Amino acid sequence: MNGIRLTAVLVLALACAGLPARAQWTKQKHSDPSAAGAPQGPQAAPRTMDEVIQRIVLNEGRTMKEITSHQPLVETYIQNLKEDKELGFIPAGDKYFIGRADFSRGVNLIPLTEGDGKKKFGLGGIGKFFITPFLPEGFLQMIFLDNTSFDREHYQFDFVKREFLGEIRCLVFDLTPQKRAGKGLFRGRIWVEDRDFNVVRFNGGYEGAKASDYYHFDSWRTNVQPGLWMPSFVYSEERNLQYALAKRLDFRAQTRLWGYNVGHASQEQELSRILVESSVDDQSQGANDLSPIQAQRQWDRQAEQNVADRLEHIGVLAPSGEVDKVLETVVNNLEVTNNLDIQPEIICRVLMTTTLESYTMGHTIVLSRGLIDVLPDEASLATILAHELGHVLLGHRLDSNYAFFDQLLIPDKDTFHHFYFARTPAEELDASKKAMELLKNSPYKDHLGNAGLFLAAIEKRAKEIPNLVSPHLGDRVPLIADLNTASSAETSDKSKQITALPIGGRVKIDPWDDKLSLIKSKPLGTLAEREKMPLEVTPFMPYLVRYGSAVSKQPPAQAAAAPQAAEKPAEQPPSAPGSTPAPAEKPKDPPPPSR
Ligand SMILES: [Zn+2]
Repeated sequence: MNGIRLTAVLVLALACAGLPARAQWTKQKHSDPSAAGAPQGPQAAPRTMDEVIQRIVLNEGRTMKEITSHQPLVETYIQNLKEDKELGFIPAGDKYFIGRADFSRGVNLIPLTEGDGKKKFGLGGIGKFFITPFLPEGFLQMIFLDNTSFDREHYQFDFVKREFLGEIRCLVFDLTPQKRAGKGLFRGRIWVEDRDFNVVRFNGGYEGAKASDYYHFDSWRTNVQPGLWMPSFVYSEERNLQYALAKRLDFRAQTRLWGYNVGHASQEQELSRILVESSVDDQSQGANDLSPIQAQRQWDRQAEQNVADRLEHIGVLAPSGEVDKVLETVVNNLEVTNNLDIQPEIICRVLMTTTLESYTMGHTIVLSRGLIDVLPDEASLATILAHELGHVLLGHRLDSNYAFFDQLLIPDKDTFHHFYFARTPAEELDASKKAMELLKNSPYKDHLGNAGLFLAAIEKRAKEIPNLVSPHLGDRVPLIADLNTASSAETSDKSKQITALPIGGRVKIDPWDDKLSLIKSKPLGTLAEREKMPLEVTPFMPYLVRYGSAVSKQPPAQAAAAPQAAEKPAEQPPSAPGSTPAPAEKPKDPPPPSR
């Protein structure tokens, strides 16, 4: 087993010659046939701690097998930190990586962009902060407690206590490698749900030859199917990590996994739906020939639909859901108060990624999950949507070549090269001008202070977080110059100003089917400057629930990596995007919005 687990996350640029540069992984050794993916039948409840531990080991082997039979998308975002007198630590350089996990021969990641391979991953951010390369596979490795030797020969289990994680009651154990069990073993704490005895969280690190070989991490799983807990979040952090020649590393990183079952379930559902209804989008009723303009519209919509379907299939675009509806309500508010009747109607969708970006394809507006997460309030959301609506109104069109189906049959790794929706600088400028016109007539016109601060904060921090603000498919967060000058003086009490939320504060991902929902967390009251952490990486603290429980369908109150999500300064009547905005009155006179 020696050498098997040398999955150094941090490959020292100079000293790595002797270390394997990527994760090595062998098929798990659990030879117990009952561990090999046998369905989880009703078993007698274990009566002794010995039996409990046996059950944990057995289930972990089964989980391991299940994990490696999937190819989820894996996204890692890393922020390097530097010390700041007022704020503690602030970002100074960042890294972003997205790829599809491939467990067929070890722990591998296939990048979604060819350019994002290992070579490029080493350098970036602001120059010298990233002389140390991070290895994407290293972060993926952190979803495994121990994929070769998780048993009592290798580990001592010490029961600590019972504890609730969300609504899940857990047994907590401390895990230490047995003497002479080998290197690269996990040392830390595990949480095991006390019904079926699956590991739901583990926190610690792998023991290496040197402290700098492995990072510390906190790894969480989600109950995605009955009895099945799959890795979904990993938080990692190091402070003052010495490496190479007197070099020092401080960083925080979030890894998210999703798309375990994307592309399978929806097709099956679609097929069974067709078999039942025996018609696909039946247009025979009241069918008329289309006028040329209608034909063009339909052609364009087909292109939009094609691209959306393809991106959803890859796992990059979330399936239609409740978050789309929130965005569409805000778009509707803008339309109604500006006396607009846009045909075909605007559809909003959400990109699964953490990078801050937005774009419009035809009449479909797309915002990234990461962007929605960090917006301070509904007026800021409206500002971004108004810009995109500007593109629609100005007739900036999608390449309608996408209406040809051969354009869509591309390998995963070409996704971000093939699809590209960015606009020219001139179009961006025009859309921002249009956005200002729309906002002036909208219910948000008196509440744009935070939006101005938000856009200014992105500009100000862009150098420290270049990868977070760099889009993959669309445009970066727009500049709206008028907004900045018009409203930055509005909020005078600095302690109540929230310029941007920490990363990951609003939208919750179902890692199995990619469905998104809004996190509803409690307001936190006054925050110290240090606690605001705009655009920063924070630890994950998900509220765990069982599959199918009532709570799992309705995001719980405490579930928040960043509990500021529901923070709503009292002087900001338009609600935060975390709550459902009130639709404007349907009558299409431009009304003074009632509140
Ligand atoms: Zn734009």
